[in-house]
Amino acid sequence: MFESLSDRLGGVFDRLRGRGALTEADVRAAMREVRVALLEADVALPVARQFVDAATEKAIGQNVLRSVTPGQQVVKIVNDALVELLGGSAGEEEAQLHLAVTPPAVVMMVGLQGSGKTTTTAKIARRLKTRENKKVLMASLDVNRPAAQEQLATLGTQVDVATLPIVAGQQPVEIARRALQSAKLQGYDVLMLDTAGRLHVDQALMDEMKAVADVATPQEILLVVDSLTGQDAVNVATNFSEQVPLTGVVLTRMDGDARGGAALSMRAVTGKPIKFAGTGEKMDALEAFHPGRVAGRILGMGDVVSLVERAAEAVQQEDAERMASRLAKGQFDMDDLRAQLGQMRRMGGLGALAGMIPGMKKAQAAMNSGAIDERILLRMDAMITSMTQKERAKPELINAKRKIRIAKGSGTTVQDVNKLLKMHQEMANAMKRIKKMGGLKGMMAMLG
Ligand code: GDP
Repeated sequence: MFESLSDRLGGVFDRLRGRGALTEADVRAAMREVRVALLEADVALPVARQFVDAATEKAIGQNVLRSVTPGQQVVKIVNDALVELLGGSAGEEEAQLHLAVTPPAVVMMVGLQGSGKTTTTAKIARRLKTRENKKVLMASLDVNRPAAQEQLATLGTQVDVATLPIVAGQQPVEIARRALQSAKLQGYDVLMLDTAGRLHVDQALMDEMKAVADVATPQEILLVVDSLTGQDAVNVATNFSEQVPLTGVVLTRMDGDARGGAALSMRAVTGKPIKFAGTGEKMDALEAFHPGRVAGRILGMGDVVSLVERAAEAVQQEDAERMASRLAKGQFDMDDLRAQLGQMRRMGGLGALAGMIPGMKKAQAAMNSGAIDERILLRMDAMITSMTQKERAKPELINAKRKIRIAKGSGTTVQDVNKLLKMHQEMANAMKRIKKMGGLKGMMAMLG
């Protein structure tokens, strides 16, 4: 899996990592190579472009952490961007099947012929049985392909999972009804429906799937696609997701896919999480798809990533300690505000302490909702930079004349400066209130 991409990226980072300093040109050159590596891995062009643009901006805008090299930080940035591309931290949770309903939960498998749908149905059934101790019933609704139902029955015997007895001549919707009925009566936890495939996406197939979904009301509709078909797999997924409410994708034949383009583009193009990867013909060759782990496998630089994480945590710790001592005194000047804004930018979130300050929380919410983006944070930073040291320590000194100077110096407007001052004022007030409540300890006690 991903061998060729791994090799390419490995080469790019080896050249970067040892270096003590990186210029913007170095970063841009490295990111260009990352882009080529992604395209060679058959990642969709717009996806590769967006990936590299976002990572480049982050890498150039970052503050270098103590105790790691800039190259190491770039590795971490690319790692994080990969995790995001593969589904993000939400993807970890999404990799699970959501089967929490009054049993039987229904999992409907859809996909083109030959994608590995029947094999994957049996693999998932086996996994649910052995790992989660679920009682699973499988039913094949494929009445087109001769012996499709027998194939599932054979696999069922192999993995020791029950299959619905075959009744000749029944149509897919009838079979789905009968399967649901049996599953209910016989106390099955999960019913897996293996639907018919086609050679191409066609309307008859889509209509049949919709009719089955109406009857079976599945909790999960999983699309099975062959990763070896690269961008075609992504196109198939796009087609299917326009017609049926897919809850996830299973990528088969990842064992033979050295490039990985389908896996890398799938989430960005279709918005659907990859839930499992098929990694062989054997019934146990199925892996839950964890974006973090897959990114780690692609880069093979887990040590660097955790080193940078630890360094970032250390900085956060220092910031937190400084904040704690300021809080105790009820102080909050422009430098404190800048430290917090910087942290928001670096970490994409607030430290535990700043999270308690109402104004900061609001700012964070605005940032998460997209109302404040990184550029606004950078502008605030520029305004604070344009203040004198005295002004930063005592913002009340900032009169109309000084506001004009600060706005000019930072390429902003007096209105922007006013907004910043107001935000700071609100936070400083909150700090004073916290002090009155007996400092942080008092506040913690109040919060229980
Ligand atoms: P369906 O027509 O979509 O139901 O496809 P099948 O389940 O019959 O699978 C077609 C072929 O692909 C079979 O020979 C499977 O053993 C094989 N296959 C399925 N998944 C994988 C996988 O993850 N890796 C490999 N190497 N082969 C697979």
